[in-house]
Amino acid sequence: MASVDVTVRGAGIFGLSIAWTCLQRGAKVRVIENAHPGAGSSGGLVGALSPHVPEAWNAKKAFQLESLLMAADWWATVEAASGLPSGYARLGRLQPLPDDRAVEGARRREIEATTLWQGRAVWQVIPASGAAWEPVTPTGWLVRDTLSARLSPRMGLACLIGALTAKGAELVLGEAEETGQVIHATGVAGLHELSQAFAAPLGSGVKGQALSLRHDARDQPQLFVDGLHIVPHADGTAAIGSTSETTWTHDETDAQLDTLHAKAIAAVPALAKAEITARWAGIRPKAATRAPVLGGWPNRPGHFIANGGFKIGFGMAPKVAEVMADLILDARDTIPPDFRVETLLQKTARR
Ligand SMILES: Cc1cc2nc3c(=O)[nH]c(=O)nc-3n(C[C@H](O)[C@H](O)[C@H](O)COP(=O)(O)OP(=O)(O)OC[C@H]3O[C@@H](n4cnc5c(N)ncnc54)[C@H](O)[C@@H]3O)c2cc1C
Repeated sequence: MASVDVTVRGAGIFGLSIAWTCLQRGAKVRVIENAHPGAGSSGGLVGALSPHVPEAWNAKKAFQLESLLMAADWWATVEAASGLPSGYARLGRLQPLPDDRAVEGARRREIEATTLWQGRAVWQVIPASGAAWEPVTPTGWLVRDTLSARLSPRMGLACLIGALTAKGAELVLGEAEETGQVIHATGVAGLHELSQAFAAPLGSGVKGQALSLRHDARDQPQLFVDGLHIVPHADGTAAIGSTSETTWTHDETDAQLDTLHAKAIAAVPALAKAEITARWAGIRPKAATRAPVLGGWPNRPGHFIANGGFKIGFGMAPKVAEVMADLILDARDTIPPDFRVETLLQKTARR
């Protein structure tokens, strides 16, 4: 097998995005996936690329903002190379405001967003219009933001794989030789491996369940109702997600998903008769810091870690790929301190 500049372990959204950005910058790339692309938490249904609230600003929110703002061009380039759709569209998001306090808080964020989002997107309090594709809102007010976008996780992965193979990257299912710089983007398995390597609880999995309904609202904004994402997709489905389970007895879907389904219908009655087209469960990789974990593998020269996408891995992926490529190919370290592997090790050691 020919030697490559960069070997990426893991064909989830982090691994494939890093592979793509490295390839774009001229590196020879091999992706090794020990099951199949999307076998981990990236093979799901939801695909909400949505921001944190515009207040109490920090490095994680700034990083995420950059990633969300990069996403349209980034995915357009991947689509052009693969000839496949990713399902990406920046159509914004609506959220109900349950009481006067929520309206007041939302109006404060409206002002904060004008500076924090640099005029590139708005967060507005608007009156509900009574349209069918709107969440029920007790106050009659909604938040509308124009930063949120959606992507079909499965189409996005297929699009990345198409682009990688069209431009000459290797994708190996099973095992293959690691040459060049090696990136471990192996999701929950990677967090367990790290925890073993450093004899510390550095991260774990959080189970999530989601479902997909046949309801065509493909040109409409996504909805976010009391922690529930309702995301219309380009294929005429609407995804509903997700549960958040720190303990579980099996990896499949169960009755908790039916509760989620009922909650979605209560929030958007227009979904009441929509047929269920898919049910899915996955395990999110959550680092002990709850933040992404990026950087060199301590005391293991030539090895790097990209993990901890947790609930926002798809939204963070373009920027994660950029900073990892900076580090691996140019030895330029632009990783925010809170995301560094060393920070995770230090914080875990202090607990
Ligand atoms: C129910 C649910 C809903 C979600 N909703 C959203 C959302 O709306 N928006 C969002 O941004 N994020 C969402 N997420 C989070 C997002 O899916 C994750 O953050 C993201 O998938 C993490 O990607 P990853 O590439 O790090 O890991 P994974 O997707 O888990 O990929 C790791 C890959 O590595 C492979 N692997 C493991 N060990 C090895 C090895 N030794 N060698 C080679 N390959 C290996 C695995 O088979 C797997 O394919 C959701 C997650 C879940 C579970």
